[in-house]
Amino acid sequence: MWSIEPLLYALVSLCIGSAIGSLSWRWQQHAKRQWHQEARQILALAPLNGPSFALWHSRSYCPHCHHSLNATALIPLLSYAWLKGRCHHCHTPISLRYPIIEGLTLSCLLPLHGYAQNPLELVALTLLVSTLICAAIIDFESYWLPDSAHLVVFSCATIWLQSQQLDLYNHLFAGLVSLFLLLVLRGVYQFFRNMEAIGIGDAKLLAVLVYWQGPDALIEILLAASFLGLIFALIQRKTYSSAIPFGPFLIAASLLFFYLEIAL
Ligand SMILES: [Zn+2]
Repeated sequence: MWSIEPLLYALVSLCIGSAIGSLSWRWQQHAKRQWHQEARQILALAPLNGPSFALWHSRSYCPHCHHSLNATALIPLLSYAWLKGRCHHCHTPISLRYPIIEGLTLSCLLPLHGYAQNPLELVALTLLVSTLICAAIIDFESYWLPDSAHLVVFSCATIWLQSQQLDLYNHLFAGLVSLFLLLVLRGVYQFFRNMEAIGIGDAKLLAVLVYWQGPDALIEILLAASFLGLIFALIQRKTYSSAIPFGPFLIAASLLFFYLEIAL
């Protein structure tokens, strides 16, 4: 029988939440800079000055005054309360996104502790759910989904499916059907309405989510995500032609069903 202290897992979850907050922001800045560089290259303009944006290797800093953050400013949730939501150096308000992401990650990861049957399952599910949270934030804030996130979710889901001794090929087939279905829907919209109603990233995301949760999840996730998206659009007073990221709702729906399964 294996065990890990719940408190230790909660602390690790908070640190993962802090890393997701930082990584999701850096990833967006990194991608924006790359797109700018590519656009400048196409337009035969001089490349942007300065070093490229580091995803992993640089210290966290205040985006306003560019001071590096010290260790106390990096303690999840507590540092925000301690600093009263302001940068220690320039007193500029720190975005609420950081404590929200840390709290969200903690509440999403904690149920996995009691559910995982062995350390490998816990690691795989922790990485899978953390990657989904990171991808949802990026899509919500910048309207794109990183391909590497799909790959991580696919790999972690494979470990989990094997550990649960579920039919890998059945899940793989369901994932491919989901991908095909959304690509067809996308093509139909493009042909008849001349609009990109569904992104290719959303199709890939649905495929890996259904691969993880099985054939029955396809309709459930699609319906629940559409419903959540509709509620969001109504609250935000979006019009028919407004762009809405679908990825966060696909992820929210799949996590909702997964946690319901854990709870029942
Ligand atoms: Zn500052």
